[in-house]
Amino acid sequence: IKEVKYTINKKARRIVSMNITIAGVGAMGSRFALMLHRAGHKVTLVDGWKEHVTAIQKDGLQANLNGEEVVAKLPIYLQSEVDPTLSNDLIILFTKAMQLEAMLADIQPLIHDNTAVLCLLNGIGHEEVIEKYVPRNQIMIGNTMWTAGMEEPGRAKLFGNGSIALKNLVADPKAEQAAYKVIETLNSAGLNAQYTENILYAIYKKACVNGTMNSLCTLLLANMADFGDTTPAHNIVVKIVSEFAEVAKHENVDLNVTETVDYIEKNCYNRDTIGLHYPSMYQDLNEHNRLTKIDYINGAIARKGQQYGVDTPYCALITELVHCKEQLLCAK
Ligand code: NAD
Repeated sequence: IKEVKYTINKKARRIVSMNITIAGVGAMGSRFALMLHRAGHKVTLVDGWKEHVTAIQKDGLQANLNGEEVVAKLPIYLQSEVDPTLSNDLIILFTKAMQLEAMLADIQPLIHDNTAVLCLLNGIGHEEVIEKYVPRNQIMIGNTMWTAGMEEPGRAKLFGNGSIALKNLVADPKAEQAAYKVIETLNSAGLNAQYTENILYAIYKKACVNGTMNSLCTLLLANMADFGDTTPAHNIVVKIVSEFAEVAKHENVDLNVTETVDYIEKNCYNRDTIGLHYPSMYQDLNEHNRLTKIDYINGAIARKGQQYGVDTPYCALITELVHCKEQLLCAK
């Protein structure tokens, strides 16, 4: 595995300012927008949540960034009203999974020949949607350990540190060079990005965390540590991760079940760190009545399982149960 690590250094300050559009400016989009803006890049925002867009147009994008109150007056467009003359070196996609395709359709006029398009959404298979709208050699995929939350329209809560793993979708020297340029840009803002050769492994591993903790805590109305304390927890997590691993094999990803289960149990059940947290899917559905991204996590495994002839009874059932719950709660 070739892994090249970048860290923020003085050289990063000499980086040329990039024209960056953040497509989807919820919690994570706000974090990236504010950090890249602070580093001197020209950041434009695009979003579909009208109340939020209006609040930002009026008062700027506001956040509590590690205890510091910050505000940035950034140009923002409703995604149905983008300005096609905007030049874009980089577009960062930060919608929820189920909003991705509509966003790509709306921002198509902003995707030029040299625009890099970076997807850091959690979940599996987003590249299949993106490549309907973006040439494959301009797509970069990855995931991030940064976190963020929304407080109200126009205002985010941004605490802690994180990192980003990314790679160009196609093996091509020019695409790889473009990915390194994006990494330099992200690192100029302290976003701690690194080129990760085995990016599908990183994406599948994170999807295993979401495919166990997000969906199970959402269904069981539990935080991660409380779920972890139940007697059946270990067996259920092993079964789900095994389904992910079987499907992953068909995409040349070698996901070690024991190691991944161990990673989930050591990290997610720890009451001193994140164990008491209710995952984002829990919050989306149970607290905000929003539809979930289950089709892009356990649902993606069930779908791909059918395609590859792999049995995925746990993922299939969990997907249906979450959809039942969405309907019972009239989620939108
Ligand atoms: P988010 O829900 O805050 O924002 C996503 C989109 O939903 C934005 O366009 C936002 O404007 C819109 N939205 C938010 N609240 C809304 C409301 N009440 N009504 C209508 N629209 C609303 O999502 P996020 O947390 O920024 O996550 C974006 C992507 O990043 C997801 O794919 C997620 O998996 C991934 N991600 C999130 C985190 C995290 O800590 N939040 C961490 C890593 C990856």
